[in-house]
Amino acid sequence: MEHMKVFNTLTRKKEEFVPIKEGEYKIYVCGPTVYNYVHIGNARPAVIFDTLRRYLEYMGNDVKYVSNITDIDDKIIKKANEEGTTFETVARKYEEEYYTDLKGLNVKPATARPRVSDTIPEIIDITEKLIEEGHAYKTENGDVYFRVHSFNEYGKLSHQPLEDLESGARIAVGEIKESPADFALWKASKPGEPKWESPFSEGRPGWHIECSAMSRKHLGETIDLHCGGEDLIFPHHENEIAQSECANNCTFAHYWMHNAFLNVDNQKMSKSLNNFFTVRDIANEYGYEVIRYFLLTAHYRSPLNFTREIIEQCKSSLERLYTAREHLDFLISHAGEGKEDIKSSADKAKAEFIEVMNDDLNTADGLSKLFELVTVINVDGKEQSKNALEYTAKIFDELADVLGILYNRNTDEIPTEVKVLVEERTAVRKEKNWARADQIRDELASLGYEVKDTTQGPQIIKK
Ligand code: AMP
Ligand code: ZN
Repeated sequence: MEHMKVFNTLTRKKEEFVPIKEGEYKIYVCGPTVYNYVHIGNARPAVIFDTLRRYLEYMGNDVKYVSNITDIDDKIIKKANEEGTTFETVARKYEEEYYTDLKGLNVKPATARPRVSDTIPEIIDITEKLIEEGHAYKTENGDVYFRVHSFNEYGKLSHQPLEDLESGARIAVGEIKESPADFALWKASKPGEPKWESPFSEGRPGWHIECSAMSRKHLGETIDLHCGGEDLIFPHHENEIAQSECANNCTFAHYWMHNAFLNVDNQKMSKSLNNFFTVRDIANEYGYEVIRYFLLTAHYRSPLNFTREIIEQCKSSLERLYTAREHLDFLISHAGEGKEDIKSSADKAKAEFIEVMNDDLNTADGLSKLFELVTVINVDGKEQSKNALEYTAKIFDELADVLGILYNRNTDEIPTEVKVLVEERTAVRKEKNWARADQIRDELASLGYEVKDTTQGPQIIKK
């Protein structure tokens, strides 16, 4: 069985991506903290790992894909207090807006989309187990911390020795920790904060424990792949490994994939730097699909710079793909018997597409294979048989669908009224009745159509 290769952050090597069970992949992707509209940087992992999922499915695998919503967090609580409302009101609003954006970006709905607030019993369960086994301790004010010294592999994902991590960590005012690198599993509530009952105190979970709990609840103790942006490698993912491996006594995830940052002027796009563009604003200006296309133009481990000029370029590249696909439909509708050799060019483009995607999900090269198919259609399309052109269209659509683009094609049937007018126009033009031909052109325009005269006859275009 051939598998694609992926760069595993854990081993820092490109490795064959072999699932625990052949033909089935279990993937967990860290989702957003919902207190605002997401920015294009947040959309990068969503689009990239959705494309990975689509590709694995295309290769015949079943994919269980879980992506969470962080709905308990300081920033959400702060916003709720400022607005005089509850954390749920804030979180549910922006969760909904996030899913609207994902739909616009053609990201397939995850198999499960858990919220932290629905996972409290599972979080308490893991925390209790960690205390019992000596991996965590409760402080006198009701906080619970993970004891990093109890896990001798701590640092294996970020490839840093514990001493370095300890010397870089700080103990904040009010924290009673054994080591500066210990991290909170549970925090006793402070006034004005939401709280849940637990054996430790009335309080709320720390950040990292949520993903250990949600991953186990929805995918089991050991999964194939865990992913997110590279800022999550440390401390978030390092801490998830420590919690899960200590609680379950087995490997948490066999592979870890991390996307590089989306930058603005070579700085990470982030809310705190205030250099961000929301997906919603850019979508309102250019459409969602251009954002998806843009995010695929670079390899996911390379930084990607955002500028409006690049977005404009992406818009015209995407238009070229749409035009080529429409042209292909036009050729099909006018073809009959003919040559068949476009089939082997299409097969070649598909084989090369698979080759580049197998090499650590190279979406940038994947896109260029689709453009090679465009050239093939434009150069060789004319004398091909209907069957050969339909075969090419099928491959074109398959590859576009793996990348999750060209989902706004208007495949509506052309109305009979329009077809009749176009036929009449051809007839009156033969009779050189230009006045009527012009009139028909105006009538078609008022119906939202345009006719382009080509060597193969009139092409009807929806405006
Ligand atoms: P957050 O809501 O900050 O936890 O981010 C949600 C996801 O977006 C995480 O996987 C982050 O690593 C990722 N992310 C945040 N900012 C960027 C950025 N500028 N470029 C790429 N990924 C990012
Ligand atoms: Zn996470």
